[in-house]
Amino acid sequence: PTVFAVKRFAVLGLGRNGLPAVQALSACGAHVQAWDDGDTGRNGLADALAHMPPEQAACITCAPLDDLGGFDALVLSPGIPHHLPRVHPVAALAIAAGVPILSDAELLYRAVRACGGKARFVGITGTNGKSTTTTLLAHILEQAGLPVAAGGNLGPAALALPRLPDNGVYVLEMSSYMLERLDTLHFDAACLLNLTPDHLDRHAGMAGYAQAKRRVFTGQTAQDMAVIGIDDADCAHIATELARGAAHCITVSGANPAASYYGKDGAIWHNGAALAPLGPTLPGAHNAQNAAAALAMARFLGVADDVAARAIASFTGLPHRQKLVETCNGTAFIDDSKATNADASSRALGCYDKLVWIAGGIAKEGGIDSLAPYFSRVEHAFLIGRDAALLAATLARHNVPHTVVDTLDHAVVQAYSLAQQTQTPVILLSPACASFDQYAGFEARGRHFQALAHAVHAQQTSRT
Ligand code: ADP
Repeated sequence: PTVFAVKRFAVLGLGRNGLPAVQALSACGAHVQAWDDGDTGRNGLADALAHMPPEQAACITCAPLDDLGGFDALVLSPGIPHHLPRVHPVAALAIAAGVPILSDAELLYRAVRACGGKARFVGITGTNGKSTTTTLLAHILEQAGLPVAAGGNLGPAALALPRLPDNGVYVLEMSSYMLERLDTLHFDAACLLNLTPDHLDRHAGMAGYAQAKRRVFTGQTAQDMAVIGIDDADCAHIATELARGAAHCITVSGANPAASYYGKDGAIWHNGAALAPLGPTLPGAHNAQNAAAALAMARFLGVADDVAARAIASFTGLPHRQKLVETCNGTAFIDDSKATNADASSRALGCYDKLVWIAGGIAKEGGIDSLAPYFSRVEHAFLIGRDAALLAATLARHNVPHTVVDTLDHAVVQAYSLAQQTQTPVILLSPACASFDQYAGFEARGRHFQALAHAVHAQQTSRT
């Protein structure tokens, strides 16, 4: 296909998003000039060029982007600043030359439509729950036998996704950056789950952040579906505005029966009926909100209720988000390593009545002070990492029993022995902190916890 045959694209940043963009655009016949300010990106492109058909490689130049005259669009990697006061010089050139800056989701949409493709597009955004909702919806659609490609902010970049037949559905997790750089793409089903202010720039950034997130609904008509969470004030406000403007707004909530789809008694309800039970892999009201959104969109996309219900029940959950790792003599080990701030940890803590808590690492502003309402559930806390003492001070103020240990290894062993003594059913790793003092990231921290939990289990089985 040569859908971009006469087009010239500039691509800056050759990482997870940029490299697939160069490959997809050149495969469509476009001319691409690509650059990365670091060597790694350029080496990655050189590798990719070596494996490409020569006629495609001939469309690609690797050279600094110092003149954007004559280009049809600039594709920027998500991390590259394109807003005042910080604008990358290449973005500034594009703005001065009137060259549009487009996200790869926009280009995917153009490539699909330019070939006459009719696959539908779903966009999912929000502060929290994007990955869970995206993965769950993709799972439901797959179980219904539809061709599905899920990616974007999570998983493969938009332009790395396979081309789908006309009955296919692209399920895109959309970051604020991707939403800001859309042009013609409008979603058949769009979802804004929630808006939690970033504590650091609550006053400066919130209005712009909300504005970017609600762009997920831009261009939608009455034939499309707009799904919006009403569990926070900002989203509830947007829902009211949308409902006034269009008939297609569907509200979702973790527990509020005023919403069109909501969680109650371990199921998702709609029009007075329990449509789908929620299994143990989707605990808490926050996951009920995610499931309500996925279910509303799946039904809109034509999935039958019984198929959707079975698919939700068979969803295994995402790693490191309240994931059950192991159960050992009645104690469940739960990996919530993704919770890198207190707000995320509050979701998990709220799910268990009695638990041993493992937390710590690099604390965010405010530490764990905001988690005080959950402290009565904590039988004992084991604190690890750089800011263990800071967390300990908060727990001491609230008379929560706790022990500072240096590593996760010690935390898990001691947590298990204490859980057994006190018949506590849950050991929860939900650090409320970043992991970079001890780990490469939350995934590595979560994998370490899993390995330790499996080791405890193996030791117990060898004893019996
Ligand atoms: P994202 O992709 O937006 O980061 P995830 O689905 O990976 O979201 O979930 C990350 C964390 O956010 C979860 O571990 C949980 O603590 C919290 N969370 C998930 N869904 C919601 C929701 N609907 N509302 C509030 N918090 C949520």
